[in-house]
Amino acid sequence: MAPRLYPHELLMRLNSKGHCVALTAFIAIVLAHWVEHITQAIQIYALGWPVHHAGGALGLAFPWLVHTEWLHYGYALVMLIGLVALRPAFLGSAGLWWLAALVIQVWHHCEHLLLLTQALSGHNLAGRAVPTSIAQLLFPRVELHLFYNTIVFVPMVIAIALHWRPADAERKAARCSCPYALTGQRQEEGRYKAGTAARRAMMWTCNAMMLGALLFIGLFIGVAFMQLVSNASEQAVLLLALSSAVTLGGFLLLMRELRNGSRLNR
Ligand SMILES: [Zn+2]
Repeated sequence: MAPRLYPHELLMRLNSKGHCVALTAFIAIVLAHWVEHITQAIQIYALGWPVHHAGGALGLAFPWLVHTEWLHYGYALVMLIGLVALRPAFLGSAGLWWLAALVIQVWHHCEHLLLLTQALSGHNLAGRAVPTSIAQLLFPRVELHLFYNTIVFVPMVIAIALHWRPADAERKAARCSCPYALTGQRQEEGRYKAGTAARRAMMWTCNAMMLGALLFIGLFIGVAFMQLVSNASEQAVLLLALSSAVTLGGFLLLMRELRNGSRLNR
């Protein structure tokens, strides 16, 4: 019989031997979620579908699924759990960026919890016809959640990029299986040697996809914003303009951070 795995042991494993694989899986989930949000935005802005019918790719196959608050709440919860569970391995400035993503996600999750409670109880906030979150009293839902996803994603991408290209102090202190750690003492010890090439390939794929996503999302939201300026509510335009600025600003900041210090000298 396999030995029982206690929660703290699982957490330790996720932040040591299992960090690279767990983080990669987490990134895949986050990117898939982005595909859904971008598809939905294309349906609304480029194809002119009414918001109620624009349920992303998933909404085409399972319209009822996209309309259950459980799905949205479930994703917000998975995101929150991932940000908490994978955090200990993020050191130094990478840890601060990851914490920023976590703090914002705590709020985003509360908004979804509020939506779910309303859907389950049948009583909506401020007597609205549909479940309504607090920020939704001021901003339209689709653009609000594009914005929420952006301000969680940008610090997350910066954290991961810094985690995988750490400054010397963090590199020495690192205890996780991410490929950067295969230097110095730990390489001499021969730990985590197996699967190095695969892990490196995974890291580069993730990096390329995340940076690509960052640029694409920034540009896409920028284009949607231009389109909207003429015919959408001021609140929607404001949120899209902010999302676009945060994404492109994050990209530039990340490039600068990576160029700083000794990160690029290896
Ligand atoms: Zn790691």
